[in-house]
Amino acid sequence: MSEVRNVIIIGSGPSGYTAAVYAARANLEPLVFEGSVTAGGALMNTTDVENFPGFPDGIMGPELMDKFRAQAERFGAELIADDVTNVDLAGPIKTVSLADGRTFSARAVILAMGSGYRKLGLPGEDRLSGHGVSWCATCDGFFFRGKEIAVVGGGDSAVEEATFLTRFADKVTLIHRRDELRASKIMAQRALANPKIEFAWNSEVAEIHGDGTLEAVTLRDTRTGDTRQLPVSGLFIAIGHDPRSELLIGQVDLDDEGYVLTQPGSTATNIPGVFAAGDLVDHTYRQAITAAGTGCSAALDAERYLASFE
Ligand code: FAD
Repeated sequence: MSEVRNVIIIGSGPSGYTAAVYAARANLEPLVFEGSVTAGGALMNTTDVENFPGFPDGIMGPELMDKFRAQAERFGAELIADDVTNVDLAGPIKTVSLADGRTFSARAVILAMGSGYRKLGLPGEDRLSGHGVSWCATCDGFFFRGKEIAVVGGGDSAVEEATFLTRFADKVTLIHRRDELRASKIMAQRALANPKIEFAWNSEVAEIHGDGTLEAVTLRDTRTGDTRQLPVSGLFIAIGHDPRSELLIGQVDLDDEGYVLTQPGSTATNIPGVFAAGDLVDHTYRQAITAAGTGCSAALDAERYLASFE
């Protein structure tokens, strides 16, 4: 086994890189596992980011993440573009392992693996991500002023997103597989009363159409199988997200949906020396700036934890 580090950070989105900047500037020489395929995190899959402070003209998601990465490297964070496949977090020295068998150890670990938005699994979905297909109304709603758009889903987040998007769009079609919403009664009532929201009941998206940008979706009736085209320039997919916490099962406390539980007002998990940040923890806000904010907190919490042994 190699030397025992101060801090290992698992994840390379806004939370992981921000934790790396802070830990590196505190001379903790962090080692960051960025992941093999998706280094840079969720913003690598999007185009314009207009709500990250400090970029008044907006910035492309991948460019923003390159800047996060460069800033972490500038202060000496060591970055490894590989996936952590196993962790042992109990005890004062924690170990993480890669698929090739390499093992690394540290006194503190920051978990920043984010969460994945559930996809429909249709051709064109990834290609048109950031070009009409979106998973985040807060992020992208503004781009659809005066447009006709659709939201897929029937739970609280779909209904909340559809209602929010009526601030921008002329018409929002809520596409739902069943004939009634799963969302809480008050949210459902608000959506049903909103004149800008139409409902495509018993419907699922069968195809996504568009060359450079989204133009339409084909809807299939879940009872009859009949199809019809719905012209839309935006499709918001709100069918849930899954925190990337498989590695952590049996290691740290997770909630029923698999999010890492942290102590109130802190990024500390139930295991001393293990901290968690970003969308891996966050059910509610799920923004780059909030992920970066908790990444900062996790590095400061880790720094204090390590200092307590000096
Ligand atoms: P992520 O960004 O998800 O990063 C986590 C990363 O950790 C993974 O991608 C992977 O590289 C790495 N990782 C995971 N598991 C492992 C492992 N086992 N080993 C090593 N590495 C691992 N927010 C905004 O504020 N503004 C926007 O305009 C905006 N647009 C968005 C557009 C899209 C299409 C999406 C999907 C999201 C958007 N968001 C936006 C939300 C924002 O991207 C997320 O809230 C933010 O990226 C969460 O940061 P994070 O660091 O927690 O996780």
